Amino acid sequence: MEVIRLPSKMQSWALDQRAHGFTLAVVPTMGYLHEGHRSLMRIARRRAGRVIVTIFVNPTQFGPNEDFERYPRDWERDRAICEAEGVDVVFAPDVGDMYAPDHSVWVEETRLSRGLCGAYRPGHFRGVATVVLKLFHLTQPHVAVFGEKDAQQLRIIRRMVRDLNLPIEIVPGPTVREPDGLAMSSRNAYLSPDERRQAAGLWKALQAVQARFAQGERRAAALIETVRMELARTAPSAVPQYIELVDDETLEPIEQIRDRPALLALAVFLGTTRLIDHIVLSP
Ligand code: AMP
Repeated sequence: MEVIRLPSKMQSWALDQRAHGFTLAVVPTMGYLHEGHRSLMRIARRRAGRVIVTIFVNPTQFGPNEDFERYPRDWERDRAICEAEGVDVVFAPDVGDMYAPDHSVWVEETRLSRGLCGAYRPGHFRGVATVVLKLFHLTQPHVAVFGEKDAQQLRIIRRMVRDLNLPIEIVPGPTVREPDGLAMSSRNAYLSPDERRQAAGLWKALQAVQARFAQGERRAAALIETVRMELARTAPSAVPQYIELVDDETLEPIEQIRDRPALLALAVFLGTTRLIDHIVLSP
C-alpha cells in the first residue's frame, strides 16, 4: 500500500493507472476509521482494480464553532485498517497543500442543501461539495463510494455529479450500526458512557416510526411526534436540533406521505456531540 501526501503526486498516479487500463474507486473519508468506512472499502474493492481511500479532515466543511480542531485523528490505526482492507493508495494531504491561501472557487449546491443539516450548518455542504470535487479531480475515479448514513450529503453529491456531468458512478453503502443500533460514526468517540447508552435511542425512535408507518400512519406530524416521544423515553438527555419528514428526492418538507418515498431525518445533541440518523419510508 502506498501513502501519498501531495495532491500533484496523487493525480499523476491516478492518471497513470487509468492509462494502464485500471478501473479506479475512491472512498473519501475524514479518518478515524470504523467498520462503516471498512464496508465502503469492501464495496470499492469489488468494483475496481485500484482502490484509493482519502483521509482528510476538511476545514472548509466545519463552522467556526464546530469541532474541526478536536475532530478525532489516529493516523497509525487508520493506515493499518486500510492496509488490512487491501487498499492500494491512501491519499492523506495536508490542509496547506489542498487549499491555496487565496483559494476562492467554491462548488455550491443550491436546493438540496437548504434544509435539514444545511439549515443549521451554513457553508457545510459548500465545503463538502468543493472538497469532494477536488478529491475527484485528484483521484480520477470511475466509481466513488459514499455512506447512506449521511443521507443529505449523498443526495447532494449525486446532484453535483449529475449537474456538472462528472463521469463518475456514485455507489451508496448501507449504514453500519453498533449492536444496539447506533450508527457508527467517528464522533461517537466523544460520547460519555451515559451518553453512549442514550445514543441508541435515536435508532429505537426511528424503528418506532417505521412500525407506525407500517401500521398505516402517513401524517408527518404524527410520525414526528412518535420520534419525540420515543426519544424522550429512551434518551432523556437528547436535545433534538431537528426532526423532519421530507420528500426523499427533493428534500422538501412534506405534510403527508403519499406515493413517493420520504425521508425521516433527525439531528440530536447528546451533550456537545451532534448525532444524525434517518430512515427512508417507502409507500
Ligand atoms: P466521514 O469520515 O464521517 O466523513 O465518512 C466518510 C464516508 O463514510 C462517508 O461517505 C460516510 O457517509 C461514510 N460513513 C460514515 N459512517 C458510516 C456508517 N456507519 N456506515 C456506512 N458508511 C458510513
